[in-house]
Amino acid sequence: MSSVRQLLDLQAIDLDLAKRNERLGVIGERLGNEGELPALRARVVELGTSAKGIAGRQAELDSAIDGFSGRITTVESKLYSGAVTSSRELTDLQADADMIGRRRSESEDVLLGVLVELDEAESELAETTERLARSETEWLVDQERLAEERTVLQGEVATLDEKRAVQAASVPPPDLAVYERVRKTHAGRAVAHMRNASCASCQVGVPSKIAQTVRTSAAPVPCPNCGLLLLVD
Ligand SMILES: [Zn+2]
Repeated sequence: MSSVRQLLDLQAIDLDLAKRNERLGVIGERLGNEGELPALRARVVELGTSAKGIAGRQAELDSAIDGFSGRITTVESKLYSGAVTSSRELTDLQADADMIGRRRSESEDVLLGVLVELDEAESELAETTERLARSETEWLVDQERLAEERTVLQGEVATLDEKRAVQAASVPPPDLAVYERVRKTHAGRAVAHMRNASCASCQVGVPSKIAQTVRTSAAPVPCPNCGLLLLVD
């Protein structure tokens, strides 16, 4: 009786371990990895700076428009005060008032554009800030969930490690060495069932002489086609 049946049990433990360790690797990469968060934070800062700049331009235009209005009031009060009587002077004052009025009107046009720009910048900032807050919350929940999953997996791995040690000790060391060698080159698998004189893994028929050896040999016998150790069902 060969030790292949024990090796099959060992393989089951090893596959379980590999699955858990692989998941632990994925979790290890995701824990502490903030993903898109740093880029989102930078974007919020950038949008905030941009909105502030536009608001600054709005304040400048507001104050320039106020200045023009003040000047127009001054010129018009002179114009209509009756104190100025020279028609030349009156014409000049009117020209002044018109010129300042045109400049105020130009500034008002620019202000309209700036207000639209500010509105767009502020809504993009609000949206991005909200998206950042949502992503940060999701990230924290995800991190917590991953940390919990990791704790469970680490416990399972510790139990499986113990089980593996016991199972490996039940196999003769040379057979264990063969097992380790085969599974390294077969994606973690080392044992295949032999059914109706065929390898259940590669589906190729096992020559009857070898099939007979599989049934009687004390040492593991590999499938001549794929190399997995054959186990009589
Ligand atoms: Zn095979």
